[in-house]
Amino acid sequence: MKKVSIFLALFLGLALILSGPIAAEQFISIATGGTGGVYYPLGGGMSDLINQHVEGVDATAEVTGASTENARLIQTGEVELALIQNDIAYYAKHGTEMFEAEKENLRGVAMLYPEIIQIVTLEDSGIESVYDFQDKTIAVGAPGSGTEANARQIIEAHGLTYDDMTVDYLSFAEAVDQLRDGHVDAAFLTAGIPTGALMDLSATHDAKILDIDDDIAEDLMEDYPFYTQEVIPGGTYDGIEEDVSTVTVLAMIVTSAALDSDTVYDMTAAIFDNLDYLAEIHERGGDVSLEAAQEGMPIDLHPGAERYFGE
Ligand code: GLU
Repeated sequence: MKKVSIFLALFLGLALILSGPIAAEQFISIATGGTGGVYYPLGGGMSDLINQHVEGVDATAEVTGASTENARLIQTGEVELALIQNDIAYYAKHGTEMFEAEKENLRGVAMLYPEIIQIVTLEDSGIESVYDFQDKTIAVGAPGSGTEANARQIIEAHGLTYDDMTVDYLSFAEAVDQLRDGHVDAAFLTAGIPTGALMDLSATHDAKILDIDDDIAEDLMEDYPFYTQEVIPGGTYDGIEEDVSTVTVLAMIVTSAALDSDTVYDMTAAIFDNLDYLAEIHERGGDVSLEAAQEGMPIDLHPGAERYFGE
């Protein structure tokens, strides 16, 4: 009897030792944005691909305030991957604009697709341009969003500041709800088009997107070189039939210098060997390509991504 239980104990001990390392999984959090944007669904697609193609890794997409918050989450090691605007990644790396300190852990993986600055109001709001924001209530993006930085810069390019209006820090989904209810007069959205929250709004209300005049766009591009001029083609949203002239930045994927090269290589491969999947999730997923992935990379590349794209 005693012998049997010793054997049993030895057997169980051995089984525990052997199964321990095999069961250990590495958790990968992907910081995205709000549910009304494009980061969240595409980040979800990336986590699917990583779970399918990288062994020993358990990836999840997280809802966040977007770009600025995501840079902080990478720096503190709370997330391993993040979607972020190229302008915000640059400011984070250098500790400028909204960042008090350099986010030296931030490393580039790939450039993704254009994110268009969409300044939205309702057809009957009486607002024709940002100049009309004086004394109005404006949704400037979620706290910690890249959208908020764009809103501030664009308002200032029109000679106004937040002091001239009431600003509300709202996610895209909240901003659209409040536009509908008349609690805000206009909202900034920096996102790939079509943006979910704006599709929802234009399905039920007469929405319009404001033009940014050429002279303002030129000033803006001079002060902040990450902007480029872009047209939102008429017909992108229900009832918005005319082209809108505005500015755009780029979405990209970043990771942390603390992450090992093999893991980053495997995750990059999981995404870039299966780009068809991202294209199915959102039209802008179709913009992502191997060829363009390193064009305009504003920060140092992670060695794991460098190896993948070098091949
Ligand atoms: N670019 C936006 C931001 O950082 C988020 C866009 C999205 O959620 O798709 O504020």
